[in-house]
Amino acid sequence: MSIFTGEYSAATCEVCPRRCGIAPGALGACRARRNVGGVVVPENYGRVTSLALDPVEKKPLARWRPGSYVVSVGSYGCNLACPFCQNHQISQHGQKDVPWRELSPEGLVALIADAAARDPRVVGVAFTYNEPLVGWEYVRDASRLAHERGLATVLVSNGCADQRVIDGLAPLVDAANIDLKSLSPEFYEACGAPEGALDAVRATIEQLAAEPGCYLEVTTLVVPGMNDSEDGMDGIAGWLADLNGGRGADELTLHITRFFGRWRMADAAPTPPETVYRLADVARRHLSHAFVGNC
Ligand code: SF4
Repeated sequence: MSIFTGEYSAATCEVCPRRCGIAPGALGACRARRNVGGVVVPENYGRVTSLALDPVEKKPLARWRPGSYVVSVGSYGCNLACPFCQNHQISQHGQKDVPWRELSPEGLVALIADAAARDPRVVGVAFTYNEPLVGWEYVRDASRLAHERGLATVLVSNGCADQRVIDGLAPLVDAANIDLKSLSPEFYEACGAPEGALDAVRATIEQLAAEPGCYLEVTTLVVPGMNDSEDGMDGIAGWLADLNGGRGADELTLHITRFFGRWRMADAAPTPPETVYRLADVARRHLSHAFVGNC
């Protein structure tokens, strides 16, 4: 599959709706992909900034293999710039600004297989922390190897990617948690998202919900004054409940999580817990499984 177009030495990246036109030798807006010789390549491939053993509930996945653990791995770069990003140290920086070390897909999977051999609660890998889809080729290659070793794969993502990227990854993902920040394009705009981002996120959620081998949960972070209305939450939960493709309202889980001030909104007050609980009640009008987080 080729999803890049190059003309002369400039190149257009089609991995996400931003469609960066990248000058020779330059980086795209996500800081993860560079134009090398007229071809956009994932410069962050195999460059790991974060590695940790996490309970799956922390991803969050509430109803997928509860009690198990995954090795969480992240690189650098993101195609959004949410002003409240809790991982801005790696998501909003490139290779010059953040410490990283090389870890090939083979090395990563060997490490996880070793961990699983020592502790049967370790079931696989989670691609997380920065935005995994801006370096989707690493997710693809490591996921294939993980499956060959009988390990599970988890994707934690903003979901803002070209359909062809999701086409390539969906069969390789055993469980996913995708952010649905809002159903308002203006909210995504406030997160530095390109035009079409919300449509791309919705398409990703629809596709993963319909993917037979992929278990899906969704997260909405509630930011005071930005997406904390009952109407907004009613719309999100109603849309999720209407998704078909083999999954019904009883199957899909929504996490409604509490915001704490970070990065450019470091001074903002946290979401009142009662707001999160109230919005969870609103979501339960449509969904059987709506959980609060960070409360
Ligand atoms: S993934 Fe998106 S932000 Fe990154 S270079 Fe490609 S089009 Fe630009």
